[in-house]
Parts: sequence; structure tokens; C-alpha cells
Amino acid sequence: MIWDPKYETMPRGDLVKLQGERLKSVVQKVYDRVPFYRTKFDAAGVKPSDVRSIDDLRRLPFTTKDEMRDVYPYGLLACPINDIIEIHTSSGTTGKPVVDAYTRRDVELWGEVMARTLSMGGVTRGDIVQNAYGYGLFTGGLGAHYGAQRVGAACIPISGGNTKRQLDVMRDFGSTALTCTPSYALYMAEAGLSEGIDFGKLPLKYGFFGAEPWSDGMRSEIEEKLKIKAYDIFGLTEIIGPGVAAECECQNLLHVFEDHFYPEIINPDTGEPLPDGEKGELAFTTLTKEGTPVIRYRTRDITFLTREPCKCGRTSVKMHRLLGRTDDMLIIRGVNVFPSQVEQVLTKIEGVETQYQLLVERKDNLDCLEVQVEMNESLFSDELKVIEHKEREIEHQLKEALLVHSRVKLVEPKSIARSEGKAKRIIDKRKI
Ligand code: ADP
Ligand code: ZN
Repeated sequence: MIWDPKYETMPRGDLVKLQGERLKSVVQKVYDRVPFYRTKFDAAGVKPSDVRSIDDLRRLPFTTKDEMRDVYPYGLLACPINDIIEIHTSSGTTGKPVVDAYTRRDVELWGEVMARTLSMGGVTRGDIVQNAYGYGLFTGGLGAHYGAQRVGAACIPISGGNTKRQLDVMRDFGSTALTCTPSYALYMAEAGLSEGIDFGKLPLKYGFFGAEPWSDGMRSEIEEKLKIKAYDIFGLTEIIGPGVAAECECQNLLHVFEDHFYPEIINPDTGEPLPDGEKGELAFTTLTKEGTPVIRYRTRDITFLTREPCKCGRTSVKMHRLLGRTDDMLIIRGVNVFPSQVEQVLTKIEGVETQYQLLVERKDNLDCLEVQVEMNESLFSDELKVIEHKEREIEHQLKEALLVHSRVKLVEPKSIARSEGKAKRIIDKRKI
């Protein structure tokens, strides 16, 4: 179902015009009200009057996460604190958190874009949404909460963790939708199956998973185990939280809500904008946010865009599911390696779970990658010879996919620490 047909199916010409108008207004506003931006624009020699259409965006300087951290906590505020009604921060996966402050209209916008997200998968009034994203400063919990309520569904604000209780609630309350990180969804599925739950008999129909990278292989696994349709949803605190882009029923590429959040793909080394279809770093400009608008924010996430029409009727630009984040990217002997590449290989291999960790060390000045993967019970009970053979097989397949050698170590079932939020996939012990 299309939640907001006027904007989600707007003819592209009108959309581009609207974006231009909104950009002009946000640029003028940040120049007048946020010294951080005024200084940057002045240094780059651009004035708000230089911006007349969305194409002029490329004249403006980028904003980086480090710059945002420098003006922590309130340096990006574009309105008086009296107008702020809610404050969040990023999870701080890569350092000091970044602050997002919301006016009442921003919170409403957040509910709207999350309503679009949930409607894409089919959630409507009458649905029961079990929201297992963490509540708190992390944006996942409240973002999904506002969206579920906006569509008129019943939201169960269970937050992350306490898996036994999650499963009881799912059964007792008849949850029809699940929202959480993909790794936690898989964890819940495994826990439920080992408790003997027959998910096919529960009313659960769909899941909205995001906040961390995952692969198509992992999607199939979650769908098979939980007997649901699993949708990828994307967002980041700096922009609004979840609700920046999401998959429609085609489950292929994510529609970006570009009437509010304008995406660009740039060459991470030169900052040059790249054409559709080319892989690069994703940057976003918020076109309507009031509290903490951001201009050309470099996300460090890697993907590509396409403007080809979608079967669902929405006209927005689509992004490929994330191919990784530059700060998740390992450079092993000069070769770029993303955990999602490893995951894609693992999901096609019999006998192992999608529970893995990458350990990197430097021995004799050489990078060594070890991939630890959990065996399933049946492989675990097999002979050592069989297990060793499996390790060599996986090493071979990883070499083909990554183009760099890694050592594979199969470990006992359930021995890799599970996360109720974002999974930790990398342990980098190199001291560079
Ligand atoms: P942090 O950067 O501290 O993790 P956030 O909690 O704001 O802060 O997380 C935003 C980041 O999470 C994104 O920039 C992206 O790297 C990742 N992310 C969010 N949704 C997805 C998704 N669907 N697939 C892959 N990565 C995602
Ligand atoms: Zn679509």
C-alpha cells in the first residue's frame, strides 16, 4: 500500500522542482542561523543566492561526521532550544555520538516516513507491531514506534533483549509484524525453533529489519525460519533515524524518501558526484528538517542509485542495499573486504550458521584474516575430518569472492556472542 501517494508517486519533474525549492529554503536557513554552516559556506565562497535548483547542491561543501562531533552537542541547532521536543544520538558504533534534535514537526515527519516504510510491506491499522528495536537514545525504537502508531497499528514497545519474553509476547499477543535488527531477528528465530515454536502457526507476517548490514542470503534464512517476508529498511541518526529509505513489496532496492532526504553518490576520494549505477559513498541533504538540518552529509556508507521506474508505482530514486560502510571496510593486504561479502558466501554453505566474526591480525608485517563461523549441530557432531574438510571448502569459496586468502575456523554452535542490537562482526587487532 502506498501511504502518501501525492509525494511517493509524484512525477519526477515536479519532484525535482520541489527539491530545488526546499533546498533553497534550507540553505538560506542554515546560513542565517547556524554559524557552523555560515563559516563553511563562506570558506567555500558560496552564498545562499547561488543555489537556485537541486543541481546547485554540488556547489556546497560536504559535512563530515568528525566536523559534527567537533560541534557536539548543540552546534548544529537551527532553531531555539525551546522548539526542540526530543533529542537522540547515534549508536556511536565508530566513536563519539552525533546529536539529532527534533522539533514537533520533525517528530511528525519521522512518523510519516516510518509510516511509509511500514506500509510498503503491508502494515495497516489492525496490525500488531512487536517493536524490538532498542528504545532510548538510539533512534530505532522510537522511530518504528511513531511509524506504527501513525498507520494506526498497535505498537508493542518491547524494546530489544529478553528473548524468552519476546517469544512469549509474539505468541500471546499475536504479533503480525516484527521490527528489530536482522541479527536479532535471526537470533530470535533460532531461540524459538529450539523451544519448539512452529512459526508457521503464528500470525507473524512481516519483518522490517535494518540498522546494520545484512545480505540476501540472510534474508532468505530469516524468511524461512520465521515464515515471514523480510524487508530491508535504512536510516541514520544524522538524517532522522530509521525512515530514510525502505524496500517496497518488490524486495529489491530501497526507495529513498527523496522529497525530504536528498541522496548523492560521490567518489570517496575526490568528492566528485558519480552517475546512477556507479558505486560510491552515499551523501544526504535534509530538505525539510527543522531542528538539525544537514547539508551533504557524508555517511561513509557504500551503495549506488538508480532512477529506473519501479513496478510498485513509486517514482522515487532507489538505492541498492548497503554494500558496506567505509569504516566497516577492512583492507587486507591492500584488498577491500566487507563483512557482507563474507556473509553472502556463508549463507550458501551447508552446515554453518550465519553467525560469524572476522579477526584481523598482523603477523610478520602481513595482514592475516581469520573467519570464525559457527557450525550447526549436525556438522558439529560429525568427525573432525569432515569439519576440516568443510573449513578448506569455505576457505576456497571465500578466496574466490574476496580475492584474498583467509583462514576459516569452524566453532561450536552458539559460541559467538549474540547481540540484541547491532552485531559486532569485526575484531581488528592490528596496531597500525
Ligand atoms: P552509528 O553510525 O553509530 O551506527 P546509527 O545508529 O545512526 O549510528 O546508524 C546508522 C548506520 O547504520 C548507517 O549509516 C549504516 O551504516 C547502518 N545501517 C542502517 N540501516 C542499515 C541497513 N538497512 N543496512 C545496512 N546498514 C544499515
Ligand atoms: Zn517499488
